Amino acid sequence: MTRLSIPPEIAAKVLFLSDRTCCVCRRKGKPIQIHHIDGNPTNSDINNLAVLCLDCHNETQISGGFHRKLDAEQVRLYQDDWLNLVVRERELKRPIDKVSKEERSLELELATSLAEIYRENNELELLVIHYHNIGNTDLRDKYIEEALKNNPPDESVTFLRSLQKRRDLIPKEIIEREINCMSKNRDWSNLARLYVDIGDYKKAAENYIKGVIEDLREGNLFSAAFYLKELAEEEVIEALFEMALRESTAKGDLWWQVRALQELGWESELKDLLIEKKEKIEKSGNISLQELLAMAEGKREAYIQLRKLEAKSIHRNW
Ligand SMILES: [Zn+2]
Repeated sequence: MTRLSIPPEIAAKVLFLSDRTCCVCRRKGKPIQIHHIDGNPTNSDINNLAVLCLDCHNETQISGGFHRKLDAEQVRLYQDDWLNLVVRERELKRPIDKVSKEERSLELELATSLAEIYRENNELELLVIHYHNIGNTDLRDKYIEEALKNNPPDESVTFLRSLQKRRDLIPKEIIEREINCMSKNRDWSNLARLYVDIGDYKKAAENYIKGVIEDLREGNLFSAAFYLKELAEEEVIEALFEMALRESTAKGDLWWQVRALQELGWESELKDLLIEKKEKIEKSGNISLQELLAMAEGKREAYIQLRKLEAKSIHRNW
């Protein structure tokens, strides 16, 4: 078996991405193996690996005769298409109603016990986080007010108010003190979080990245990955695209307006913009914009013609 030559973490990733299913016939539960698409068993680059069932794998081994040989290019096409499908299926499966009744009652029981423990220990901040996590904002806000009566440290004030999305209630001098203190301690990640809290997304991104660069240089791979993930999950990236959109709109720069809207996923705004700027786009000679306009207007035939035109215009010099 060629599988032995594949590093286990790469094998695991390929299997996960393919949902342990043959990318060609896509029949679940069949015995599978990892196939080297280019036929070179030492090339374990993830892009060279595909999950195939034994039947489909045989198809790749047959050359000539009556059987249709499954060649590398075909496997690659099947593979790309399948991986995309798996991602989409996983996204669809995520909704909460999949959680079983038992799991819910277990969660409820745990939630009640935890609240009791925190209350007994007078751990108001933990209680606040707890109610926040289970979505009970009334109780969360009640305990936030209680916690604030005890003159908590600066970082608690910012944290509690930002949970409520009431950054406007954080006293200015507290924010200043926090920023000074974290900068002095080179605590970039927490500084980044603070900037998220107060809605300064440029500085937030800057400090997340500063922290990640430092972690990478010092070999703290877990931290680097953790804060990159946090950066991606926070509203920072979206906010930067929104700022880019505002800037390109102010400058009347249509191309970057379109790109920002695409990245934001604001489809109906994109459609409206394209139709509004129809005349400008038609005069622009920009084929990509014209294609988008054709799609926005529902002109399939025009879109196909433009794509063909675009394909013909590509000439590589090598
Ligand atoms: Zn198969």
